[in-house]
Amino acid sequence: MRSGRVNLREVHKAYGSFRALDGVSLDIKAGEFLTLLGPSGSGKTTLLNVIAGFERPDLGSLLVDDVEFITRPPHKRDLGMVFQNYALFPHMDVFSNVAYPLKLRKVDKPSIRRRVMDALEIVHMQHLADRRITALSGGQRQRVALARAFVFEPRLLLMDEPLSALDKNLREHMQIELKRLHKQLGMTTIYVTHDQQEALTMSDRIAVLDKGRIVQLDVPATVYDRPNCKFVAGFMGETRFLPVERRDQSYVLDGRPLRLADTRAVSSTGETWLMVRPERLRWQGDASSDNRIEGRVLDVVYRGDCNQVSVSLPGGHEVAIRHSGAERQPLPQPGDTLALWLPAEASLVIGSAAP
Ligand code: ATP
Repeated sequence: MRSGRVNLREVHKAYGSFRALDGVSLDIKAGEFLTLLGPSGSGKTTLLNVIAGFERPDLGSLLVDDVEFITRPPHKRDLGMVFQNYALFPHMDVFSNVAYPLKLRKVDKPSIRRRVMDALEIVHMQHLADRRITALSGGQRQRVALARAFVFEPRLLLMDEPLSALDKNLREHMQIELKRLHKQLGMTTIYVTHDQQEALTMSDRIAVLDKGRIVQLDVPATVYDRPNCKFVAGFMGETRFLPVERRDQSYVLDGRPLRLADTRAVSSTGETWLMVRPERLRWQGDASSDNRIEGRVLDVVYRGDCNQVSVSLPGGHEVAIRHSGAERQPLPQPGDTLALWLPAEASLVIGSAAP
């Protein structure tokens, strides 16, 4: 039975005059881990709810394994769901919570026992099968919620910010566990988050949403290193933008032509910027192949694994670079004049809108 290919075509959903989904088309491969990433209000949950059947779109189509699902009620869509608030039954123990979807599907008792214990083993909770939900930690509850979502081997696993209630360490640990689990089970997984680091860590592909539209859909490294517009670049990582001018086929920063490895077309109208991230700037460079950026040190902030040095540029813009202590340069001081280097392969010029 299991495949789990999803095809969305021109899906629209409005609440009054507000367009929550504005023509979303998306093809998700069977077995893929796809993340819907975007700021609050961009339409992630609405899109997930359309796939789950909790929201009916105004227009558009949703195919799952080539079958139209738009009119099919949620309980007939064969999906497992995990939410931020776990949505477990507090009066039941761990075993009964995970057994619930199998009981609903009238699976026989011996099979239920075997499948529940297998699922609990996968999430490392078999030793707590008899525990009451109220006697579990947040991370343990989320593992139970996960086991309950996949125990009946659904075609699709849908997750809406499942880790956001956990503290940072546990969240990062669970990200790795979820990714391993996905590899092991091979279920098509659609994951909603507003956390770019989480999306980069876990996904096969990321769909970045803004104002009810998908603005970029690609593998994590491309979305991070080759964002297709200023919105995506700004949403991913600690990004600063320096205005550049177009001259013929090249771009100029403060009167100096830029060296760019990726000269793909930026949308020809409107403003253009050089994308600068702290981890891509270098303390040393080669004047014949890198871009030189000069400025004055504003401040130096200690961050544990590095010092972050903020540099003010002549035009009033600001960039930042990290100083880990491993580089040959001494740590600069506020007021120092500094030359920084951006290698051509890390230099990307982008426009306001996706080309
Ligand atoms: P968040 O990360 O904050 O959950 P999101 O990207 O998941 O955001 P959605 O929950 O999909 O965003 O909401 C998209 C927009 O649609 C929001 O502006 C929201 O206020 C609006 N919206 C969602 N559901 C309804 C509703 N039932 N009635 C009116 N407006 C709604």
